[in-house]
Amino acid sequence: MIFGERNIEKPIRWAMVGGGRGGQIGYIHRSAALRDNNFQLVAGAFDIDPVRGKDFGVNLHVDSERCYPDYKTMFAEEAEREDSIQAVSIATPNGTHFEITKAALNASLHVVCEKPLCFTTEEAEELEALAKEKNRVVGVTYGYAGHQMIEQARQMIANGDLGEIRIVKMQFAHGFHSEAVEEKSASTKWRVDPKVAGPSYVLGDVGTHPLFLSEVMLPNFRINRLMCSRQSFVKSRAPLEDNAFTIMEYDNGAIGYVWSSCVNAGAMHGHSIRVVGSKASIEWDDERPNQLRYEVQGKPAQILDRGMDYNYPEALVNDRIGAGHAEGLFEAWSNLYTRFALAMDAADRGETLENMWYPDIHAGVEGVRWVENCVRSADNGAVWVDYK
Ligand code: NAD
Repeated sequence: MIFGERNIEKPIRWAMVGGGRGGQIGYIHRSAALRDNNFQLVAGAFDIDPVRGKDFGVNLHVDSERCYPDYKTMFAEEAEREDSIQAVSIATPNGTHFEITKAALNASLHVVCEKPLCFTTEEAEELEALAKEKNRVVGVTYGYAGHQMIEQARQMIANGDLGEIRIVKMQFAHGFHSEAVEEKSASTKWRVDPKVAGPSYVLGDVGTHPLFLSEVMLPNFRINRLMCSRQSFVKSRAPLEDNAFTIMEYDNGAIGYVWSSCVNAGAMHGHSIRVVGSKASIEWDDERPNQLRYEVQGKPAQILDRGMDYNYPEALVNDRIGAGHAEGLFEAWSNLYTRFALAMDAADRGETLENMWYPDIHAGVEGVRWVENCVRSADNGAVWVDYK
């Protein structure tokens, strides 16, 4: 259980690029990083607009001289300080992630980067090699993975509670962009522009989330080949898709399926994963994150609740409030930011932590690889492609 006591010697001096006023995801980065005092926000280049960014940073109690007009100035000027930043989180639109992550690693900073890490597997592998060379941690915010019941699912599968795994059914299919909302929303506009969003919209924006949940639950599964069909129901979004179906064959004979969509009219998040084994199935839905549905063939379905002693001990480690009280996405992100801090602290001491998973640079690479393979299949007529 977490009581908020320190688990590293000193808070990590931390900055943000992006995540400024009006940005969708910046606040949860700050809430998660600051919750357990593992990080201290000391600097930032928070906004594409330097004046607004400075005003915003000062309003976050950041020293005005450390609210920088852009990330390049920040990395250069911070490097001159004795109390310089040690880590940076990047919460900017997709098209900037590669260059900012690369610059941060070259400045010997630990990084937390938003997904997708970049646009191509080649770029992603370049970042992975650079992070290794510099011995720096790169975390990628597949935030839902920090929910306790995802760990419970991982343990149940590892312990054989489901039998042999046959089917993995995933979806992140919301309805918020059923119409051309990008005409009025800046935050949606860049998502349908290939120059800023990259080679996909919903595959990278939402589909990679349940994909990473499957990687946590099924760490030994490898995709052999996949087939993807993608559509632009709002025509002006072409060539980027607002809906996609992907079928994947794993090397152990199991099969997976991902529905990625933003035109699932009426649905809120529509984000879930169901893992079907030879004896039983489990299902987790991000709109009810405190519960995991466990269905044993021939028996009444059970609902496992977060924080209860019948869960595996590994799932109880990150409990913050005890069973019955609802925990949610903010707690899940905080759990991941704690792991980022532990990994960064260990790297600074020349150690690596065994037995602690978190969405690391490899998870970032795999997300980019999956999108690339999906797009290759879809754009060749929704054909099977060997997974590269
Ligand atoms: P947004 O458009 O709402 O906000 C982007 C912010 O970045 C703004 O404050 C903008 O001023 C700033 N910015 C843009 N370019 C910048 C630059 N070069 N330097 C400094 N600041 C800059 O976008 P968003 O919805 O918050 O998405 C940002 C990233 O987060 C995207 O990559 C997106 O895919 C990702 N995201 C992830 C999740 C998740 O669950 N992990 C959820 C939403 C968004």
